[in-house]
Amino acid sequence: MVAEEKKKRRAKKLNRTYDYNIPKELEDLILVGSKVIVPFGKGEKQEEAFVVKLKEKSEFANKDIIKIEENLSDKQIELAKWMANRYFCNVSDCIKLMLTPGTRTKNKEKRIQDKIINTVYLKKDIEEIEFEIETKKIKSEKQIKILKFVKDNKGATIPEIEMFTDTSRAIVNTLIKNGYLEIVEKKVERNPLLFKDYKRTEKLQLTDEQQEAFEEVEKAIDENRFEQFLLYGVTGSGKTEVYLQLIQKVIENEKTAIVLVPEISLTPQMLERFVSRFGKEDIAILHSKLSIGERHDEWEKIRNGDAKIVIGARSAIFAPLANVGIIIIDEEHDSSYKSETTPKYNAKEIAKKLAKENNIPLLLGSATPDLQTYYKAMEKKINLLELTKRANNSSLPSVEIIDLKQELANGNRSMLSMELYSNIEENLKNKRQTILFLNRRGYSTFIMCRNCGYTVKCPNCNISLTYHSYERKLKCHYCGYEQNIVTVCPECKSDKIRYFGTGTQKLEQEIHKQFPNASTIRMDIDTVTKKNSHEEILNKFKNENIDILIGTQMVVKGHHFPNVTLVGVIAADSSLNIDDYRANERTFQILTQVAGRAGRENLPGKVIIQTYNPQGFAIQCSREQNYEKFYETEIALRKQLKYPPFCDIILIGFNSYNENEIRKVSNQMYEELQKELNALINLQENEIKLFKPMPCPIDKIQNRYRWRIIIKGNMTEEINRILNDSLKNIYKQNIKDTRISIDVNPNNMS
Ligand code: ADP
Ligand code: ZN
Ligand code: ZN
Repeated sequence: MVAEEKKKRRAKKLNRTYDYNIPKELEDLILVGSKVIVPFGKGEKQEEAFVVKLKEKSEFANKDIIKIEENLSDKQIELAKWMANRYFCNVSDCIKLMLTPGTRTKNKEKRIQDKIINTVYLKKDIEEIEFEIETKKIKSEKQIKILKFVKDNKGATIPEIEMFTDTSRAIVNTLIKNGYLEIVEKKVERNPLLFKDYKRTEKLQLTDEQQEAFEEVEKAIDENRFEQFLLYGVTGSGKTEVYLQLIQKVIENEKTAIVLVPEISLTPQMLERFVSRFGKEDIAILHSKLSIGERHDEWEKIRNGDAKIVIGARSAIFAPLANVGIIIIDEEHDSSYKSETTPKYNAKEIAKKLAKENNIPLLLGSATPDLQTYYKAMEKKINLLELTKRANNSSLPSVEIIDLKQELANGNRSMLSMELYSNIEENLKNKRQTILFLNRRGYSTFIMCRNCGYTVKCPNCNISLTYHSYERKLKCHYCGYEQNIVTVCPECKSDKIRYFGTGTQKLEQEIHKQFPNASTIRMDIDTVTKKNSHEEILNKFKNENIDILIGTQMVVKGHHFPNVTLVGVIAADSSLNIDDYRANERTFQILTQVAGRAGRENLPGKVIIQTYNPQGFAIQCSREQNYEKFYETEIALRKQLKYPPFCDIILIGFNSYNENEIRKVSNQMYEELQKELNALINLQENEIKLFKPMPCPIDKIQNRYRWRIIIKGNMTEEINRILNDSLKNIYKQNIKDTRISIDVNPNNMS
C-alpha cells in the first residue's frame, strides 16, 4: 500500500501531495489524517506530513514513510484493538479517537473573542452519502475527500477544508449546490478558560459525610489500588467538592486526573468550579464546540505534559494524559457516555479498563445512579459512598402530582392544570422564574384523521410527520422531508383531521394566550440548532430574567438558576410509553433531575408533575425523591423479566435499500448464530435467547429498511467471538448494500 502525503512546510507554496510507500508494519495503523515523518528532498530531510489518501498502488512512490509521528503508544494501540473486538468495529475507527484533532492554529491573537463563523456541515445523511460513494454516484475524489473530512470533524470551516483536503472553495460550493453540504453560521465558543480571570477558591471544610467519602477514595489513591466507587448523593450534596479535593490530593502526589461530564453539562459555570480551585494553566478542556484548532491545542497541551487535569465529554477518556491518578465520571447515569455511532463504545467501560491497568480509583458520581451501577454497589462490586444531605442546607423542593384524567373530568381541556396555572400566575406576580418541561421522547405532534385513523407519515421513513405550526408544514425529523399540511384526509376524504400530541410550540402558544404579558423562551430540537447553542438560550433565560423557559429534555442539565422557584412537568407519561426496558428508569431520572432545578438557593422550590398515571411507581418515587424505593421496585421487575443487569441485550442491526437482501442477510446471520450458539456446551447456564430477525419498530429510515436480531444473555468472551466470527463470515458473502452493526445494551431500541 502507498500513501499520498501532503507536505506541511513553512513555505506555503509547497501545498502539493506526494506518494510514499507504507512499510508493512505500519499498514494497519496508517489512516487518512495520520501525522507521519517522511524523507523529503535531496538531503532526505525528515519532515512532518499528513496522510490525505490511501491507495493500493502508485508508480510515483519510491520512498518509505519513516514513522507515524502521532506516536500512539503500544498501550493505545492495544486499547484500540481491544475496542475493535469488543465493540465490533475496525481498529482504525478506534485509533481515530486517540489522534490529535486538526492542526496547530496559526494565529492565536485572532482567537481572542467569540466569533460567528460560517461552518460547513453534512446536509444529507452519512449513510446515504456513503451509499452514493459506493455506487459511484459521487465520483469526484476531491468531493469525496471533502465529505469525509466534514464528517470526521463534525463540521468544518471552508479554510479548514481547503487546508486539510487540498481542495478548493469551488468544490465545496458544488457540494452545497447539490444538497450534500450546508453552511450554517455557528458561534465558535472560544476556550472559555483562556481569556477570563478567576478568583481563587480554597478547599471547603468537608462535612462528615463528605469527609468519609473522601477518605475511602484517598486510601485507594495512597495504596495505588484499583477500586470502583459510586458517590451517590442528591443534587447539591457536595459531590463536586469531593471531586475537587480528591483531584488536589492526586496532584499533590504528582499525578493527574481525568474528569468526564456529559457534553451538555460542560458549561462555563461548571468549569469555573475547577479553574477557580486549580488555575487555568493546569487544566485542559475537550469540548466538541471548540474550533478544530483549539481542540488541537488542548490535545497538544495534554500530550506535552502541560495539563494536570483533563475535563471533557465522553471522548476525553482517550486524552493522551500521562500518569493518571484518578478517573472521575460525573452524572454517571447519563446515556451520553455510550456512543451511538461507530465505534459504539461505552466510556465507563474504557475508564474501568484504564483505571485497572493504572491501579487507580474510578469514581462514579450521580444523584440518580444507573440501575446497573447501583446493582453492582449492592452486590459489593462497587464501593458505595453516600451523601444524604444538601451541603448548603437548602431544602429539596416539594413535589405535587396532578392527575390529568381528573382535570379532564372537571372539564379542563387546556395543557395546564388548574394548580399549575395558579402557580404560574403567582410566580409571575412575584417576579420569579418558571421552567415548563415537556417530557417528550420522539416527536409527538402528529396529525391523524379521527374518522378513519389515517396518519400522515414520511414516505422515506415510515414515521409520523411532525407538525410545525410556525411554517405550517409537516416535517420528518429523521430525513428532513417536508410537505404542506393536509386538511382533508387523503384516505376517506373527511375533514376530521386533528393535531395530536403536545409540542413545545403549541405549549408556548397556549402560554401566550393564557398569560399575554409573560415573556417566554423555548428550547427544543428546533431552537437549539447549530447556530443557537443550548448554552446561549439558558444564559438568555437567566440574564434577561425571562419569565418562563419552555423546553424538552435539554432543560434538565447543566445550569443553576437562583430565581427559578417553580418547575412544571406538562406530561410525565410520554417517556413511560416508549418501547424500551429502561422506560421507568428514564422517567424517574428525568423527573428527579428536573425537580432538582427548582429552589436551589434560599427560595423554596415547588414542582408540579402532571400525569395520566399518578399511581405509576416511577412517578411516585420521583415525587418522594426516593431513589432506593425506585431501585427496589425496578430491580425486582428487571429480575423477573430478565433484563439488564441480569443479562445483556445484544442488538444486531441491519439496514439496506434492498428489502429482499436485508431479509436474506438477517436470516443467514440468524441461522449461523443459532448453529454456533447451540454448539456451546454451557448454553444451559448462560440461558442465551436468540430471537428471530424482525423489522425494527422504526422499520425504515431514509429509504433504508431496518431489521434486527435480539439476543438476551450474558455477553461472554465466547459469545463475543461467535458474534465477531459470524459478522466476518456474513460480510464475505455477496452482500450488495446491507450494513450490519452490533450494539450491546444500546441506548436506543427503536
Ligand atoms: P453536587 O455536585 O452534589 O450537586 P455541589 O458540590 O455543587 O453539589 O455543592 C452544592 C453547593 O454546596 C455548592 O454551592 C457548594 O459550594 C456547596 N458546598 C459543597 N460542599 C460544601 C461544604 N463542605 N461546606 C459548605 N458548602 C459546601
Ligand atoms: Zn380519514
Ligand atoms: Zn423521513
